[in-house]
This record gives sequence, C-alpha cells and structure tokens, in this order.
Amino acid sequence: MTKIIETIGLTKKYKKTSVVNQIDLSIEQGDIYGFLGPNGAGKTTTIRMLLGLIKPSAGQINIFGKDLAKNKINILKGIGSLVEYPSYYGNLTGFENLEAIRRLLRVQDKNRVMEILKTIGLTSAKDKLVKNYSLGMKQRLGIGVALLGSPKLLILDEPTNGLDPSGIQEIRELIKKLPHEFGITIMISSHLLSEVDQMANKVGIINQGQLIFQDRIQELRRKSAPKIHIRVNDPSMAKTILNNDGLDVTLTSDGEITINENDDSKVAYIANRLIRQQLAIYRIQEEKRSLEDIFLDITRRGENIS
Ligand code: ATP
Repeated sequence: MTKIIETIGLTKKYKKTSVVNQIDLSIEQGDIYGFLGPNGAGKTTTIRMLLGLIKPSAGQINIFGKDLAKNKINILKGIGSLVEYPSYYGNLTGFENLEAIRRLLRVQDKNRVMEILKTIGLTSAKDKLVKNYSLGMKQRLGIGVALLGSPKLLILDEPTNGLDPSGIQEIRELIKKLPHEFGITIMISSHLLSEVDQMANKVGIINQGQLIFQDRIQELRRKSAPKIHIRVNDPSMAKTILNNDGLDVTLTSDGEITINENDDSKVAYIANRLIRQQLAIYRIQEEKRSLEDIFLDITRRGENIS
C-alpha cells in the first residue's frame, strides 16, 4: 500500500513542553483516517505541521512519499484542507464564492464549480447568500473549496465541531463517498470517536501529545475487551483465588470483582472455581462498552494500547 502520510518521530515543542511528542503517523492511499483526541491533545498542532504552517521541532514528514521539508510547494498543491472556521464572502452566494476561489487557484475547468456544488449537496442553495447558510452548509462549502483543486489528500480539522446531529450526518455522508468517487485519501480530526466511527477505517488516538493508538477501527474494538463484573459474598477471597489462577482481577471500592474477559468458557471456569471454593455468587454481569467509552477510558488512562 502506498503511504500518503508518514511521520517519523514528529515533535513540536513550545518552550520546553512537547505538545506533539515523537508521533509516527501512517496513512495509506484511500484511507479515511480519524485523528482523535480530547481538546488540547495536539491534533491541530500536528495538522498545522502537516500543512507546512508551523515547523516541527524534530522528526520528519513524508507526504506522497516525499519529504515535506524539501518539496513543500509541490506537496501542498496536492492537499486540500479545512482548518478552523473558513472565511467567506458573506455577501456573495455559494456559487460566487466557489467561482472566485476557482479563479484565484487558476482551475481551468469552468464546470468544476457546478460539479463541486453537486458533490457537497449545495446545488439547490447555490444562489443563496453565504451569510444565510447554516453552519453545516458553511462547513460543506469549506470542504468544497478544499476540493476545488482536485487534491489527492484532504485534511480536515474538526469539520463537525459545533454542528447539530443532522449537520454531522451530512458531513459524514459527504466524506464517506470521496475516496470511492474521487480516489482521495482523508485525514479528519475530532474529539469525539462517535463522529468518525461510521466513516473512518483507521484511527489514530493522540493524548497529551502522544500517539497512544493507531490501527484499524476493528482493532480498537477487539483490543478493548468487554468487562465482566461479579458480586460474591466474599470479594477479597474471590480475588485471591482468581489471582492465584493467574487471572487479572480487580476489586472495586464497592466490593465488586472486575475482569477484563468475556470469553464464555473463561466465565464458566470462574463461576465454577468460586462455587467450588464455597463462595456464593450473587450476580455475574457483562459490561458492554461503546466505542466512545473505550475512547474515554484510554485517553483518561493515557496509556499506550497500540
Ligand atoms: P483542540 O481540539 O482544543 O484544538 P488540539 O488537540 O487540536 O485541541 P492543539 O491545539 O494542538 O490541541 O494544542 C495542543 C497543546 O499545545 C495545548 O496545550 C495548547 O495550549 C498548546 N499550544 C498550541 N499552540 C501553542 C502555541 N503557539 N504556543 C504555546 N502552546 C501552544
């Protein structure tokens, strides 16, 4: 697979603090890569480095297989981006805004603006003044502007920030179709896993400047196994028995045994083991965690799960 973005030990320091610390991103052709992390994790700083807007303190960035530091202009020609809220001419229509930028970018194909309007679902609103657009429409127009130069890579920094559920859904549908229809690779940042869950095939999770997870989204689900909670009459005895069997068991403050397992045979084994030791089992419960719970859990713990 061709690497579209590859960073090696990418670092940004402000004063002595590394706000982005030695991160190795790997984004392949056709990926929709969800770049996730809580507020202040270092997403925007990373994206700004990828777009050549700020200089890394250390490390290397390769985009389209070339070193960004040495081929900046050429590489940037192949990237469309949306970083923070884009500015528009509010007193011009959506069509006029796109047309003005088409001319600025010297995009020869005059049909391009109508094509873009269709892609971003704004054909029927093309003659409306942009100041009357909803935030969701403005964000889609921003993506349209990013698409004007027919980029191979689209980098979007929190495009769904501040949108209502239907606005988020529209952006999601738009982004999902781009790799198929135009062969574009997409990197999209968000502080909510649920927002990228239904479109990203790969995720990178950054927390306090460190990339703590990077893999297929299925791996995130698999690696974060559901938990089993057990209530018994003597929790500390149960913990000792299960620990002696080599199981990783924790005892919560409210006297519950928690195990990071949900394999049927393991659960049956545990139940059998406790009963044979004369313990009374009151309850065995599975805690199904949503992807969002998993995300919050690992960013709170801050440990590396990749
Ligand atoms: P958000 O979603 O809140 O924008 P983020 O993940 O994009 O979060 P960044 O904007 O990259 O986070 O910020 C990461 C850290 O770097 C923050 O603690 C921020 O205060 C700090 N930071 C960013 N820019 C600068 C700067 N120019 N000087 C000093 N510190 C900075």
